[in-house]
Amino acid sequence: MNTDIYQFKLGDFQCIAVSDGTHIYAPPTFPLPATFLFANAPRRRLEQVLREHDLQPEQWSEWTSPYICLLVNTGEHKVLVDTGAGDLAPSTGKLLRNLQASGIAPEDIDTVIITHGHPDHIGGNVDSEGRLTFPNARYVMWKDEWDFWTSGQAEAKLDEHVREVLLDFASRNLPPIQGQLEHIDLETEIMPGISTLAAPGHTPGHMALSITSKGNQLLCISDMVLHPIHLEQPEWHAAVDFAPEQVIATRRRLLKRAATEKALVLAFHFPFPGLGYVVQKEDTWQWQPIGTTS
Ligand SMILES: [Zn+2]
Repeated sequence: MNTDIYQFKLGDFQCIAVSDGTHIYAPPTFPLPATFLFANAPRRRLEQVLREHDLQPEQWSEWTSPYICLLVNTGEHKVLVDTGAGDLAPSTGKLLRNLQASGIAPEDIDTVIITHGHPDHIGGNVDSEGRLTFPNARYVMWKDEWDFWTSGQAEAKLDEHVREVLLDFASRNLPPIQGQLEHIDLETEIMPGISTLAAPGHTPGHMALSITSKGNQLLCISDMVLHPIHLEQPEWHAAVDFAPEQVIATRRRLLKRAATEKALVLAFHFPFPGLGYVVQKEDTWQWQPIGTTS
């Protein structure tokens, strides 16, 4: 399968899952994957669950995560969800090239929705000269999220070892969009068929989207979950989750909705193209990637 671009239809909307590349999470920058992704998991149970997923706990030394942005062409608007990681690593920053390969020029994008202010979601807001990558777009971001990153709260509240890179990306990629930015602080329809959903916890103003056309729904859940195991174990939060209790509540609410409404789901960090369905299993859920049956 092409792991850069995946085109699909959602009712009348043309959508593309667009890869920005991948990034390796490993020590010394990050904890070991099991600790990074499942920070509070009881050790024995964690080892058992990992084995069920064909992961050998002792040998799992790095996690290669995809970064998957979304392009929605509604016919009237070209909407981009998140801008990737830019120059975070040599293996990231492929969004523009992949968009162009799908016939989309940066100037064509009229709306950019930022799900949250982490480097892998805002790093493509500007080019190496600090110019806006998508000059004709209005930008949409949750107000609490913008405030967190631009008012000194992040500086005061983040863990020391990740603070520097997070603040560096925020300071380079957020101020330039300010003049074209629209703050959202309610769940609202920002254009016909695209609505914002509050999904706080991973960051203070982390946002999800419900995208619908002709009765078909795509839930774009961004970093509400980082790994398919989070559906089965929604209480196991990641080390980077800002407010764990909130993460768990948000997961339960939106995973339940995804399963009940049988929505197609896009998860930013899941194996490419990051699309699948959430299936209820006992009192939690399971990930069913598209193209597979349970
Ligand atoms: Zn992310």
